[in-house]
Amino acid sequence: MKILIINAGSSSLKYQLMDMDSETVMAKGLCERIGIDGKFTYKPQIEGKAKIDAADVPMPTHAEAIKATLDALVDPQNGVIASMSEIGACGHRVLHGGMEFTQSCLVDDKCIAAIKKCFPLGPLHNPANLTGILACQDVMPGVPQIAVFDTAFHQTMPEKAYIYALPYEYFEKYQCRRYGFHGTSHRYIARHAAEFMGGDPAKLKIISCHLGNGSSLCAIDGGKCVDTSMGLTPLAGVPMGTRCGSVDPSVIKYICDQEGITYDDMDTIMNKKSGVLGVSGVSSDFRDLGDAAEQGNKRAQLALDIFHYEVAKTIGAYAAAMNGVDGIVFTAGIGENSPYTRAEICKYLGYLGAELDPELNALRGDNRYISTADSRVKLMVIPTNEELVIARDTVDIVNSL
Ligand code: AMP
Repeated sequence: MKILIINAGSSSLKYQLMDMDSETVMAKGLCERIGIDGKFTYKPQIEGKAKIDAADVPMPTHAEAIKATLDALVDPQNGVIASMSEIGACGHRVLHGGMEFTQSCLVDDKCIAAIKKCFPLGPLHNPANLTGILACQDVMPGVPQIAVFDTAFHQTMPEKAYIYALPYEYFEKYQCRRYGFHGTSHRYIARHAAEFMGGDPAKLKIISCHLGNGSSLCAIDGGKCVDTSMGLTPLAGVPMGTRCGSVDPSVIKYICDQEGITYDDMDTIMNKKSGVLGVSGVSSDFRDLGDAAEQGNKRAQLALDIFHYEVAKTIGAYAAAMNGVDGIVFTAGIGENSPYTRAEICKYLGYLGAELDPELNALRGDNRYISTADSRVKLMVIPTNEELVIARDTVDIVNSL
């Protein structure tokens, strides 16, 4: 079965076509500036087929973006399928499933109503995600649409991990609680780390460190999430590229009063101008920060130091939460590609019995150990693949219809 995976933002739409018989990517690309001046990229993964990188492609709405995608996929010369009928289903990434969704689901009227109910929880993403779903329904009538939620994997957390110590009525009235995000990534890591380590998955305690532009950690006990660092929104937890992570909530009123700005201004500052960008004043990109720190920029080094320290502290917290840890996994842009960041974090983990092997850490490659042979806790790099999780769920649901 061939599955089209869609990640729709408010003015962009990322897509990937996967052949699920071989679990390989056939083509992928991006529609950008939807509703503005339309930019379209298409990257077929088949030898001899040409890429497209085009500006000024008319895309007033997401529906035209989907049409442009389908046209490219079935193009007689550079397409990768003969006709649209080869697409068995679409899998959509949806940011916030609230407490409504503990797993992926077929999009029907009930599912759409529930996604809408979650709009206040994910005001920037959920409406855009739903727009992508509706556009696909419109352009591909009869093709099953499946919604896969970033929050669903975390719904196994116990109450003590997800209830905030606020008046309980806020949870009851507004479902104000920790939800956690990057769930598809942490679920991929849970499964693949357990396969890689061997042994009984039900007995493994794993800490998944998804370190990218957005970063979150997840404590996985016996394959189930028991705690995670992001919260009601993806702003909580460790500092990120531009997000502050967890800070004393009183900071908000204090800075608003001092600067004469509104809560909305402060929300934007905490989401877009904070994190390692805010501390360093240099960049949100960890490669730029590394370069600047090497050239002696102290605030760039400080931003990196804070990031490593906060990630290491969270790992310690999760080892305590699970009363032990067997494996720690690094994944996503920074986790997969930065030996320096991994080494700096692991400097804090000796007390756990986690010992990094510097030579293995310096190597590149897919799933691999980076700990010494006798390290009690295994350290691993496992490249994440959120699209594959979405596609697998989509196939499972379609097969169960
Ligand atoms: P993601 O959000 O998973 O795509 O990750 C993006 C982040 O990964 C950016 O901050 C990049 O700077 C970072 N990144 C990618 N490659 C490297 C690398 N070789 N060294 C350090 N950071 C990297």
